Amino acid sequence: MQVLVVGAGVVGLAVARAAALAGHDVVVAEAASVMGSGISSRNSEVIHAGLYYPTSSRRAYHCPRGRRMLYDFCASHGVPHRKCGKLVVATNAGEIGRLEAVHKQAQVNGVEGVEIIDAAAAKRLEPALACVAAMHSPQTGVIDSHRFMLALRGDLEDRGGMVAFASLIERLKPRVGGWDAALAGSEPQWLSFDAVVNCAGLGAQRLARATEGYPAERVPRLVLAKGNYFAFAGRPVFSRLIYPVPVPGGLGVHVTLDSLSTSASATIGRDCRTTRSRPTIAGSGPS
Ligand SMILES: Cc1cc2nc3c(=O)[nH]c(=O)nc-3n(C[C@H](O)[C@H](O)[C@H](O)COP(=O)(O)OP(=O)(O)OC[C@H]3O[C@@H](n4cnc5c(N)ncnc54)[C@H](O)[C@@H]3O)c2cc1C
Repeated sequence: MQVLVVGAGVVGLAVARAAALAGHDVVVAEAASVMGSGISSRNSEVIHAGLYYPTSSRRAYHCPRGRRMLYDFCASHGVPHRKCGKLVVATNAGEIGRLEAVHKQAQVNGVEGVEIIDAAAAKRLEPALACVAAMHSPQTGVIDSHRFMLALRGDLEDRGGMVAFASLIERLKPRVGGWDAALAGSEPQWLSFDAVVNCAGLGAQRLARATEGYPAERVPRLVLAKGNYFAFAGRPVFSRLIYPVPVPGGLGVHVTLDSLSTSASATIGRDCRTTRSRPTIAGSGPS
């Protein structure tokens, strides 16, 4: 099949690689001039163990499984990563109930090796840490997300696939046995494919709405939020990731580490603020 994947973020590249490995002819259309310049270059680069997700949710199933596959992929493709582990910490007695709830959920989700430890044991692991109890997750890690995307692209290209940069897909139209896709430009060009996968990140809703015949009620609402990170200039005082017990709507401000070495750098973030400013997708103009 001729497959068009829209968006060269981590999701689009992973989908494109999988389709190419399955023997399909794959083109990735990316609006920007480089890959991974959207959400995939603005995150904590954490390999999540799968601790928090509610029982029976897709994330509870996919996160632990995907994490095991990701470590295997990193090892086989030389992607820099570190299984450094993570501590979720309760800083007062009032948080212990929530910490235990995370521990229980992690066990239900089948996450390996999670355990609740007391303050003294936490201090033995991380001498600079002050807490009343913690949950240790040895499977959590960090990854160099750009090297990961480069490796996905490498596999795609090895199988004859390609990424077309500066290629904004403006509209999709179904036809018998496939799809026509409009490539933006002074004279929009229509291209035909057997299958199209919308991996456009923050542009996914816009493209779904520009897909002829796609029911508007199936397009999820776009809720935008902005996170701020702070870089820690000194040598990191922790060797593991440190997270608070989760806060409503997020994981809470956490300490993450560089994927390459324990001494390189640490970031503290992110907060989470809802915003009304819409993302600019390269080539799409204001909306
Ligand atoms: C602050 C923050 C921290 C996070 N931390 C983590 C973490 O630690 N670990 C983790 O696993 N996940 C984390 N995530 C989530 C993770 O970053 C995202 O799930 C992931 O990057 C989404 O990738 P994507 O490919 O869907 O989107 P994107 O990376 O945004 O890719 C979409 C691409 O589509 C292109 N595009 C859009 N519209 C069109 C169009 N019409 N035509 C052509 N191209 C188009 C865009 O230019 C973009 O390159 C975090 C997210 C945020 C916001």
